[in-house]
Amino acid sequence: MNTVSLAPQILSVDALSSFLKGEFDYDLYRSGPPVDVDKIAELLGILVADETRFDVDDINTVGKITLEKDEPARVWINPMENSYAPRRRFTLAHEIGHFCMHRATNQTTFIDTKATMNRSESYWNRFESEANNFAAELLMPADLIRSIGRIVIDKFKIEKDVEMMPMANFIEQMASRFKVSNPAMEFRLKNIGIRGKKPSK
Ligand SMILES: [Zn+2]
Repeated sequence: MNTVSLAPQILSVDALSSFLKGEFDYDLYRSGPPVDVDKIAELLGILVADETRFDVDDINTVGKITLEKDEPARVWINPMENSYAPRRRFTLAHEIGHFCMHRATNQTTFIDTKATMNRSESYWNRFESEANNFAAELLMPADLIRSIGRIVIDKFKIEKDVEMMPMANFIEQMASRFKVSNPAMEFRLKNIGIRGKKPSK
């Protein structure tokens, strides 16, 4: 079934984008945001299960991926922790990050909790911070943020007949377009250098 010849590591979102284009003629950003994370997982041959488990160990688990040799990668998403759609998308994007970057490491299971998926708490954990950065980049590609951002701002200015769009409105509309949480979008915008201007007096 899975005949994809995968490189052992896909170390960046750009590399993933080239891989999907070359292997499947799939353009990651073809239809603009939101990026289709389920489709990407499917193309990569990752099996994704959203199901409730009554295993005590899993109560605090938000998501999990197993990367056993010669077996399909399996992702489990805890529905109790991912009922908010943007949360689920981020969880799956984070697991795709582990799949792409960490298959060649010795670690075969990554168990994700609120802590591993938290930017500041995962800061010193290399694999977790890499997966978080990968997820942010995959869901909110810089080029797409800039092009869509321009459209969103122009539309707002015309509709409201104003000179500037308040940052809070911008974050909210962008988060909604990209189907990510407002804090995730806010952080990403700062990260790629898009900051609100202070209104001049
Ligand atoms: Zn993780």
